[in-house]
Amino acid sequence: MTTEIIRTIDVQSIMTKSSLPVGGYSVNPYVGCPHACKYCYASFMKRFTGHTEAWGTFLDVKRWKPVGNPHKYDGQRIVIGSVTDGYNPYEAEFGNTRRLLEELKGTQAEIMICTKSDLVLRDLDLLKRFPKVTVSWSVNTLDEQFRSDMDRAVSIERRLTAMRRTYEAGIRTVCFVSPIFPGITDVKAIIERVKDFADLIWLENLNLRGQFKGVIMDYIREKHPSLVPLYEDIYNRKRTEYWQSLEKEISSYAAEQGYPYRVNDLPYGRSEKGKPVLVNYFYHEKIRLGK
Ligand code: SF4
Repeated sequence: MTTEIIRTIDVQSIMTKSSLPVGGYSVNPYVGCPHACKYCYASFMKRFTGHTEAWGTFLDVKRWKPVGNPHKYDGQRIVIGSVTDGYNPYEAEFGNTRRLLEELKGTQAEIMICTKSDLVLRDLDLLKRFPKVTVSWSVNTLDEQFRSDMDRAVSIERRLTAMRRTYEAGIRTVCFVSPIFPGITDVKAIIERVKDFADLIWLENLNLRGQFKGVIMDYIREKHPSLVPLYEDIYNRKRTEYWQSLEKEISSYAAEQGYPYRVNDLPYGRSEKGKPVLVNYFYHEKIRLGK
């Protein structure tokens, strides 16, 4: 499967008020995402954009009028890449994300970037001009085979190198260990790999809902048959013991290693080198439902 359908679309505004817990604005310079992760939560947005093609096979390249009054965003948090990766491989050609950063340059906006690419390194010069910047990468495995089974983004090694270089450039970095695949994601091994160049490590469990539940369950049956009973317990019988036990293990590990540990919180700030904040975001679904 490749991204074959590429169109340019005109949009009124590129800035959208966010409904995410982090607030601020959510900005997606593209519609669709060539990284085509099998577990992509964002694939639901196909419904709102009239796309019927398979997720990962289409990309709309947005064109917008230059952001008017960019200082309106002073002090506001702007999240780039919440439902599509602003650094998908076509960004090298179209430069939409860079254009947006150029338009916001000189403001006091807070920039948060979520990506699975190392193309963001191209824009470090520009990012350094903002007062508050965070770049986050999703890394839910150190196993390149599992990674390539799940997505078409760059290798884990390239993501880790990009994270390290961004950190060394003085920019705050976050590692999203997300989604955690039960029995597959080795959380502690990932923490050990990134601890010296991540300010915060976010731990989020795999939720299976919508169309991709069948895809993931079929994958587990084919590639990890010994995990089928565990996945059935978690995703069909809705049992939470696995997450409870992982939560205990990680909180004791954090205490042993001296990592600050938070639950369902998104603290801002730089961490002492080698001591990233660990954030457990396992039960957010229940928390949201309980609101
Ligand atoms: S990189 Fe993010 S938006 Fe793109 S397919 Fe993967 S999960 Fe979805």
